[in-house]
Amino acid sequence: MLYIGCHLSASKGYMAMGKQAEELGANTFAFFTRNPRGGSAKEINFSDIAEFKKLSEKLAFGKLVAHAPYTMNPCSANEKIRNFSCQAMADDLKRMENIPHNYYNFHPGSHVNQGVDVGIEFIAQQLNSVLTTEQSTIVLLETMAGKGSEIGRSFEELRAIIDRVELKEKLGVCFDTCHVWDGGYDIVNDLDGVLEKFDKIIGLDRLKAVHLNDSMNKLGSHKDRHAKIGEGNIGADAIVKFINRPELKGLPVILETPNDMEGYIKEINFLRENYSE
Ligand code: FE
Ligand code: FE
Ligand code: ZN
Repeated sequence: MLYIGCHLSASKGYMAMGKQAEELGANTFAFFTRNPRGGSAKEINFSDIAEFKKLSEKLAFGKLVAHAPYTMNPCSANEKIRNFSCQAMADDLKRMENIPHNYYNFHPGSHVNQGVDVGIEFIAQQLNSVLTTEQSTIVLLETMAGKGSEIGRSFEELRAIIDRVELKEKLGVCFDTCHVWDGGYDIVNDLDGVLEKFDKIIGLDRLKAVHLNDSMNKLGSHKDRHAKIGEGNIGADAIVKFINRPELKGLPVILETPNDMEGYIKEINFLRENYSE
């Protein structure tokens, strides 16, 4: 079963997202837990959540992939930003328990001149202070393009974070195809090799979700600019091969391509047509 969807606006609640997903032919989706550029989260509406759960069951949705705000930087040099980041994640994870057993994805952060090792230490510290044994949500580290001082540009950097976290069973990885490509992993000509590397360094059992994007930039460019499926340097063929890999079957696939809703419908249909069970 291909679980596929895109980012939806959370401003009108879960039921609105569920209905929109249905209209798009999606059976999973992503949403920002709070304003992606700001900080505040919305009030929790329990009847909305109850209604959404029924819809989600009826439509057999796969796991949702919530996204932390971009303002979150767990390894900022500024203590205030680190504290905000920590509190926001703790609060997000508490809220996520209203829709239990889903995923919460975040960008590990940018170390800005502090060095990778300091950055990794701060990220692990944040995870160690927010993760709880009781939570049903799995927190996903996103593979990053390595723009600026972004951490998570290599599988080794993600591994180093995981190694320092106590509750490893609450951690997974979200594989962003544009980021991995921009990070220098050739998923077009050597997908076997890339997945082998992922398995050796991180372990395929940690691979929980996919951000499916084409890339405007070249392999190893460390730029991070998403393109529509088939309109970038990864190309439709490689993307179709990617979603059909047995290692990825059943994972929620989220499109983050520059599209309006009509564009997403087209991409979802295209990927479904080119997916074999
Ligand atoms: Fe992201
Ligand atoms: Fe992404
Ligand atoms: Zn990106």
